[in-house]
Amino acid sequence: MMTINAAACEIIWFSGLVAWYIIRYPFKRRAKKVSVINSLYDRRDRSLLAFATVALFIVPLVYALTGFPTSFNRPVIPAIAGLGVATLGAALFLFYRSHADLGRNWSISLEIRREHQLITGGFYRLIRHPMYSSFFLLALAQIFLLPNWLVGASGLLAICALYGFRVRQEEQMMLDRFGSEYRHYMAHTKRLIPWIL
Ligand code: SAH
Repeated sequence: MMTINAAACEIIWFSGLVAWYIIRYPFKRRAKKVSVINSLYDRRDRSLLAFATVALFIVPLVYALTGFPTSFNRPVIPAIAGLGVATLGAALFLFYRSHADLGRNWSISLEIRREHQLITGGFYRLIRHPMYSSFFLLALAQIFLLPNWLVGASGLLAICALYGFRVRQEEQMMLDRFGSEYRHYMAHTKRLIPWIL
């Protein structure tokens, strides 16, 4: 029977990060062409994004190259690794769909663009923050795939911080821009998990 080892899990994790980057790239390029009229892209938001890069990429990279921090290693359990692959796939799919749904209204930070449209279709019909849901799925995939408690959990910590600091401010920004339209949208959707949360 084929078994899965830590190295295979790490390769899957980094392939997921590469796919993540490739999915985002064309949207990032396109978004550059639309001017921003209100931006909350400040030092705090930059620090949160830097923290996420360290926690999701740099910490796993150091772990993959050096094994640090060895004392937090856990055994590789094939079923958990399989769950990690499924979660990673779901994260990438939702990440792609939310970019496609948002189109030119996407930003890496909190920004209102010229002719910003309120999107309420696609996954946005079910939840207000599908892209952040995909971040949480990515963080779960990291826990399932990387057999080290500390390295696994570092991404979740960063995503909780990013989400925690951003979500209310983002919704306030949308309320300021779209008023009752966004209030109505809020009344009919949850933030991250359809009908639940
Ligand atoms: N929080 C959303 C979007 C993340 S991208 C999600 O998790 O899916 C962040 C940018 O998306 C912000 O600049 C914000 O202005 C914009 N945005 C958030 N919700 C939106 C919506 N329903 N329609 C249009 N733009 C939206």
